[in-house]
Amino acid sequence: MSSQRGNVSRTRAQRHQNAQVFRNDKYDSSAQRKKINAKLHEGLCQHCKEVLEWRVKFNKYKPLTRPKKCVKCLQKTVKDSYHVVCKPCACELDLCAKCGKKEEIVIPIQMSPEKPEKEPSATDTRRNNARGGSQEGSELNSSDLEGEEEELDPLVKQVEGLKMQRTGN
Ligand SMILES: [Zn+2]
Ligand SMILES: [Zn+2]
Repeated sequence: MSSQRGNVSRTRAQRHQNAQVFRNDKYDSSAQRKKINAKLHEGLCQHCKEVLEWRVKFNKYKPLTRPKKCVKCLQKTVKDSYHVVCKPCACELDLCAKCGKKEEIVIPIQMSPEKPEKEPSATDTRRNNARGGSQEGSELNSSDLEGEEEELDPLVKQVEGLKMQRTGN
C-alpha cells in the first residue's frame, strides 16, 4: 500500500459539468430537426428573429405543412411558420415578415434562388488536452520534492520489516 501524499489522481468524472449548453438535437437528430436548426430567420426584425430563434431552440417551432396566406398580396405564398407576410412582399415593402411592421430587418431576404452558404461559426470548443486533465497542476512542483522522500520510503519499510522479524523471533 502506498502512503504517497499529494498525488491523488481522481479517476471519477467531475459531477457537475456546465460545459454543454442546452441542445435541442440531443435526443432528436432527425433531418427535420437539423433543417429547423439551420433555418435562417431572414426578413425579420430583431424582436421577431429572437422569438423564432427561441422557438427553434426550445422545440416550439412548428414547420408549416402548407403555405399560409400573405396579409399583403393575399396569396398562399407564406412558407415560413409564424410569418404573416411572404418573402417577396416583405422584401418589396421592407417589412418584417412576422409582425408585418416596418422595422429594421436583421437578415435581409435573399431573393436569389440559390441559398447563400452559411459559414459554420468558428467557435472552436476544443478541449485543452495539453494539461492532461490534471487538476492538481500546482502540486506538480511540490511532488518533485516529495520524490526524494519517496526514495527513502522503501528503505525505511525494509528496516521496519527487519525490526518486526527480529521482535517476532
Ligand atoms: Zn405577399
Ligand atoms: Zn417583427
